[in-house]
This record gives sequence, structure tokens and C-alpha cells, in this order.
Amino acid sequence: MRWALSVMAVAIAGLAVAVAIMVGDDGPPAAATAPTTIASVPSTTLQASTTIPPAATEAVYTVVGVSGLGRDILATTFGDGPTRVYVMVGIHGDERAAVDTGPLLVEHWLQGGVPEGVTIRYLANANPDGVVAATRVNGAGVDLNRSFPTDDFEPGGEHGEYPLSEPESAALFADIAAFAPDLIVTLHCEWNGPFANYDGPAERYAEAFAAAAGVIDSEWRVEPEVPYPTPGSLGTYYGKTLGIGVVTVEMSRLRTAAEHWPALRAGIDALLVLAAGA
Ligand SMILES: [Zn+2]
Repeated sequence: MRWALSVMAVAIAGLAVAVAIMVGDDGPPAAATAPTTIASVPSTTLQASTTIPPAATEAVYTVVGVSGLGRDILATTFGDGPTRVYVMVGIHGDERAAVDTGPLLVEHWLQGGVPEGVTIRYLANANPDGVVAATRVNGAGVDLNRSFPTDDFEPGGEHGEYPLSEPESAALFADIAAFAPDLIVTLHCEWNGPFANYDGPAERYAEAFAAAAGVIDSEWRVEPEVPYPTPGSLGTYYGKTLGIGVVTVEMSRLRTAAEHWPALRAGIDALLVLAAGA
């Protein structure tokens, strides 16, 4: 709208110059300078009245950690609103549709899909070694979603010897702490997906996500509990220990990111709009 108004202002200013030239009684020489005069009006007017910055064409990532096998862990930020939403993919490396949704989200947000009022911190791949190897665990055989310092942390085996023992979970922990989110959204895949699970004060966000996604794909639903223990999970730590809402989006393992995308985008948009108004 501001662009349109600016263009109108430029057109009017140009017209005024042209009219002044036409009605001027100083003769033809003034007309010869008209193009230069008109050209100078638009640039001045546009600079003075345009406050919307040009859209970024690509995300600028920061290295927030390095995996056990030496791969960068990258994060970037979209928007500048007061509500802070942390979005991440890839903590389980074999959940490919979730990982592949990341670039679709980034493209969507670059093209204007960030609602006013929110800042999104996006972690592009929480488990790069696991993604390359197509394993749930990281390169050291640890499930990063069992590595958080919850009351029910269980040491040993795929949980690691102590909380945040892995460089990937430590990097994630530090980046989330630095961002200080109001809400966390983490993308996964399940055989019985798609559904939205939540921990902490996030029920209404999970409901908003599933309702909007469900308009496009009626299989989306909210599952308040998962039927297996999750000691040391990210959801338990941030949701239950710290009281920050966590929405765990469980896509279907049977479908691709592209197949999920229309419904998933609608769900994310609804969740972010709700968060922006919270
Ligand atoms: Zn998972």
C-alpha cells in the first residue's frame, strides 16, 4: 500500500512538473529540462515515504555449533516482532520429511509469510550427522531428543552419559537460551502421523495448528500424550521444566515434505498468527 501511495505521489508530482512546464510562459527552453526534473522527483519521494525494506532474497545463517563429525549447525532469524518463536527441524536424522520441510518454511518466510508481531528463530538442522547417515541418533549414537536436563533424564546408551553430553544438544540448548523463546515448534515424523503433540502451555497452539492444517488434510489432529516414555526430551525440558510451550509437529513417515506442505504451511501460519496476538 505504501508503495502504491508513493507511486501515486510520484505520478502526481511528475504531472505537476509537466503541467507547470506546459502552462509556463517562459517559452520552450524549460521543456528541454523537464525529463531531468521529473526523474529527480521520484527518487526523492520514494526515499522519503517508503518504510518497508526490500524483501530478502536468501536467509543469512549463523553457525551456532558444530556436530560431533564436524558439520556446522546453522540458525537464522526472520521478523522482528515481540513474540519469539523458535522453530527447528532435524533432531531425528531419519525423519526426512521434517528435514525437507525446512527449506519450504524458509522460502515461505522470505516471501512474506512471517506475521507481524513475531520473531522466528529457525534452526535448520539439529542433527546434521544423523541426517547424512539417515539415523535417528547423532554420529555418536545418542538420541538428541533424550539429552536434555529433565528430572527424568536417564543416563547411558542412546541417552548419553549426562544431559547435553552431545555437541548438537549443547548447541541447541545454548541457541534457545540466547533467543529466549515464548514458544518452541519442533518438526518430527511418526508412522501414525500426522498430529500435533504439545508440552507445557501450548495446547491452544497445537489446536490452532491442527485446526488450520485439518481444513486441508483432515488427518491432522492433536495428540496430547504419546504412548511411550520420553525421558530427557526437548518437549519435557522446555515445556514441563521451564514452562515454555512446545508444539511437537509429527508429520507422517509415509509422506514427503511436498505432500505435507499445503496443510503444514496453513498450520504453521495459524500458529504464528495466534502467537503474534498472544
Ligand atoms: Zn522424531
